[in-house]
Amino acid sequence: MKACLLHSPAPVEKNPLVYADTLDPQPGPGEVRVRVKYCGVCRTDLHVVEGELPPRKSPVIPGHQIVGVVEKLGAGATRLRLGVRVGIPWLHRTDQSCEYCRKGMENLCDHPSFTGYTVDGGFAEYAVAPENFVYPIPDSFPDEQAAPLLCAGIIGFRSLRLSGIERGGRLGLYGFGAAAHLAIQVARHWGAEVYACTRGAKHQQLALQLGAAWAGEAAAEPPAKLDAAIIFAPAGELVPAALCALKKGGVLVLGGIHMSPIPSLDYNLLYQERVIRSVANNTRQDGEDFLRVAAEIPVRTQVTLFPLRDANHALNDLKGDRINGAAVLDCAS
Ligand SMILES: [Zn+2]
Ligand SMILES: [Zn+2]
Repeated sequence: MKACLLHSPAPVEKNPLVYADTLDPQPGPGEVRVRVKYCGVCRTDLHVVEGELPPRKSPVIPGHQIVGVVEKLGAGATRLRLGVRVGIPWLHRTDQSCEYCRKGMENLCDHPSFTGYTVDGGFAEYAVAPENFVYPIPDSFPDEQAAPLLCAGIIGFRSLRLSGIERGGRLGLYGFGAAAHLAIQVARHWGAEVYACTRGAKHQQLALQLGAAWAGEAAAEPPAKLDAAIIFAPAGELVPAALCALKKGGVLVLGGIHMSPIPSLDYNLLYQERVIRSVANNTRQDGEDFLRVAAEIPVRTQVTLFPLRDANHALNDLKGDRINGAAVLDCAS
């Protein structure tokens, strides 16, 4: 098959992904092989390719927002039929036996594997995954629109849940990329008022189109105090600004897997029971719940398509803030 391989991490300006022929992956026991149609490009892919996440496999095929069709079943795989459309997400597998898995917190599993990081992902024509860790995709979503739901959507949804935002509450979103442009649609559906703090007129414009009450620069002070905020941008320097915008008792959620260092804080920013918490991965329940809610709303994704062979180009545009909405690779053309 054709795939984009990362041999060793490097700045994306050096175009480190190599588009090449490699062996078709074979599904092991309990796994399915998926013919990939589209794969979303996530900021985590950027962190894998540039080495902010330490390399775990070499070469590795990045990509963990995979939409495709089941076309081969491994031994004992009986849950899915051939031809069914599924999504493969970041959470590739958990051990289901550690203390976190036993408590229903498999997102914190001690022995997880991650798609496109510790195992090969979807910047390729085929990918394999355990049948119990893939999601059937609701019919209402076109293939390319479904891809960003699988990480940007699910992580945005878990971030919203952890923020505790309620109907009538005021929510700040810091950084307005793929995750925020989906999270705002859920937050608006839940009746929250959204304030978008983000670099660049295009991202601010998209936020207003999607129903933000206000949009301004990344570190700007919103015109009202917030009940909760989510930082999707990987920029630790936004933490003091976001805390400053919170009401007493407000919750600040950090939605990324990697963030630049957080500057030291004046305790007054945190006092009055303000909370800072991170989000790590997701449970399968988060994924199933989000896909159901997304189909009900229905959530609409704004995508920019690139051919599979141009994955480096997509990553460069993501790093340069030139993607409005989500970047998606067309892996079948
Ligand atoms: Zn576990
Ligand atoms: Zn992701």
